[in-house]
Amino acid sequence: MSLQIANDADVIRRTIRRIAISTGISFVMTAATLAMSLGLNPNALIRVGDVMLLSMCAATVIPAVISGMLSYRSARLMKELTLTRSELSRISQTDQLTGLLNRRGFDDEATRTLHSAHQASMPAVVFMCDIDHFKSINDRFGHDFGDKALVEIATVLREFAQARGGLVARHGGEEFAALMVGISREQAEIYAEEIRRTCAHREIRSGDICEHMTISIGFTVSRGETDLATIMRIADQALYAAKRQGRDRVVRADEMALAAA
Ligand code: GH3
Ligand code: MG
Ligand code: MG
Repeated sequence: MSLQIANDADVIRRTIRRIAISTGISFVMTAATLAMSLGLNPNALIRVGDVMLLSMCAATVIPAVISGMLSYRSARLMKELTLTRSELSRISQTDQLTGLLNRRGFDDEATRTLHSAHQASMPAVVFMCDIDHFKSINDRFGHDFGDKALVEIATVLREFAQARGGLVARHGGEEFAALMVGISREQAEIYAEEIRRTCAHREIRSGDICEHMTISIGFTVSRGETDLATIMRIADQALYAAKRQGRDRVVRADEMALAAA
């Protein structure tokens, strides 16, 4: 069903067409009903009761049939519109390369999750992960190999989320984010190490090339904070502390504060 309704003139044109079609159908159905019931002789004697009965039928059944047909068509169009809208929303929230949520999708979902965590008085943990020396991977092996590496790291995160729960996303070029609710600081540390280790062991293969790569992770445990941007900023600072400390490591935000003090 393809419709070209792009502006107000199209809307008016379509409405006029609908009115013309309904009028046509109404006319034909009324004429056919009268002809079949009363005959075609214009001079025939007819009873007032028959005319009243036919008029009442025509006035109720015919509009009901026409509006039913038009409503059915409108409902189908609405259904199509709803499906298209949800597909567009899914596309706009998905990273095309890895299939993970993109930044917009993560931010929307994470904001809702943070509010629920706050209402349930549960801690929320944000992990920011960044591939180490990714630029040199691109430079040495090419952009396609870099893309393959991004897909592999995304797979590690997707599998992690499937096994442990949580929300994972490609938050930027070679940055990934994860959000988990209701886990302790110690558990978060263990999970971050698990992600880091799994990424480091993952082989990135393409033709003759077989490489390993590492990631750095900064994370923060938040209790009661519902502003996602604030939490992300703190996790990001921990990530950069991990980079400064030599990469391929996990840094917790409060550790970072202690180290800086
Ligand atoms: P660091 O260890 O400090 O994080 O160094 P880095 O080289 O990883 O960081 P930098 O920010 O200098 O480089 C990020 C690179 O990621 C640069 C950019 O070309 C690459 N990149 C971003 N998006 C994509 C992508 O979709 N595909 C590929 N292949 N590369 C990407
Ligand atoms: Mg990097
Ligand atoms: Mg980066």
